[in-house]
Amino acid sequence: MATIVMKFGGTSVANIERIRHAVRHVKREVDLGNRVCVVVSAMSGKTNQLVGYAREAATLHDAREYDAVVASGEQVTAGLMAIVLQDAGIPARSFAGWQVPIETNDAHGAARITNIEPDLLNQRMDDGVVCVVTGFQGISPQNRITTLGRGGSDTSAVAVAAAVKADRCDIYTDVDGVYTTDPRIVPKARRLERISFEEMLEMASLGAKVLQTRSVELAMAQKVRLVVRSSFDDPETVPSLKEDGSWNGPGTLVCDEDEIMEKQIVSGVTCARAEAKITLRGVKDNPGVAADVFGPLADAQIVVDMIVQNVSDDGRETDITFTVPDTEYEKSLNVLTEAGKSTLEYDSISGSKGSAKISVVGVGMRSHAGVAASMFKALADKGINIQLITTSEIKTSVLIDEEYAELAVRALHTYYGLDVEEA
Ligand code: ADP
Ligand code: ASP
Ligand code: MG
Repeated sequence: MATIVMKFGGTSVANIERIRHAVRHVKREVDLGNRVCVVVSAMSGKTNQLVGYAREAATLHDAREYDAVVASGEQVTAGLMAIVLQDAGIPARSFAGWQVPIETNDAHGAARITNIEPDLLNQRMDDGVVCVVTGFQGISPQNRITTLGRGGSDTSAVAVAAAVKADRCDIYTDVDGVYTTDPRIVPKARRLERISFEEMLEMASLGAKVLQTRSVELAMAQKVRLVVRSSFDDPETVPSLKEDGSWNGPGTLVCDEDEIMEKQIVSGVTCARAEAKITLRGVKDNPGVAADVFGPLADAQIVVDMIVQNVSDDGRETDITFTVPDTEYEKSLNVLTEAGKSTLEYDSISGSKGSAKISVVGVGMRSHAGVAASMFKALADKGINIQLITTSEIKTSVLIDEEYAELAVRALHTYYGLDVEEA
């Protein structure tokens, strides 16, 4: 008997009909004799609506009350899912985050799970009950409801899977796996049968929203076997195993690198839109100056992404360029203008919104030189200008004008031979 965690995202529980369909997937696993925990998101569009209400109520609102409002979407789906399961003759019970409990820190709106008590879920599963747990939420040390940041139900599912020592965590969504790039942007994107945790982590953090970044981190650390698959599939199809007993789909298995035989140089292309870039010119080139620039930004909770500092000719002054989300652009300028009045010395500050970060990711880059060079060539051939470049062991990212984002993704996807072959 295996223990399976099944997570259903927003479109997979968008209405009662979709919930009934999801329940057929759950029934298949129950009929196979598995112990099952279901983790649900809010119905699609619901969380956006709730966030909108909180903003309309007051632009600057109490983060604890924001969480009280936006966590409610998942409670509705958990209850509905339990009702539909019971209606299908499957014993089921819903659990809100605080009832499990899913303990988190008190960083409201972006809380981290610190502990999940598995006993209650294990007992109920042992009694043959399907536990339906609300995703996206937990409870703080102060006994208040917290939420885990947008897309956080993926992380709830992986954390529950780790806590109950599940054999698998299946993420049911509206695409049938992880693709070489967002299949909604590039119709020629190809589904990957397997992807390593490292590559998935890079792809998620570089813009592929199919899994929340934190969920991949957690799965990697806790060795949770993750499968991304579509809830729109025929629920009666029993997952097949290969002759050696390994997973044979449907969907994409996210696993250790050594489980992947053929290592691609480039496995995927990602796009993160709405990036703003800011340049400080004539910054005094002294020890500690970078801390003077980025310290105040960090204190203001602004997440800085790409950073480039020029080597100065005379050793006295330098230019620093970095990116922040578009939404943090004005705030960042204000913070640095204020810092300029005290410790930080620079000549001028400038910047603009509307850039996109395009990245290519692949573990094969570790052992192959020249990926960055070929990427620049492929973009140059399309006349796309590169504003900034960063690289790490398994990825190369460039910042370009957002207007060319789709063109760049398509061009790179074709260039690295990732396009699906025509039938
Ligand atoms: P859910 O509501 O089920 O959590 P999300 O909307 O959060 O679903 O994530 C699924 C979406 O992620 C897909 O519809 C797809 O457009 C997008 N996506 C982005 N990059 C990728 C990728 N590389 N592979 C698959 N899907 C991707
Ligand atoms: N409902 C939450 C959101 O829309 C969490 C999730 O769906 O993963 O962000
Ligand atoms: Mg999601």
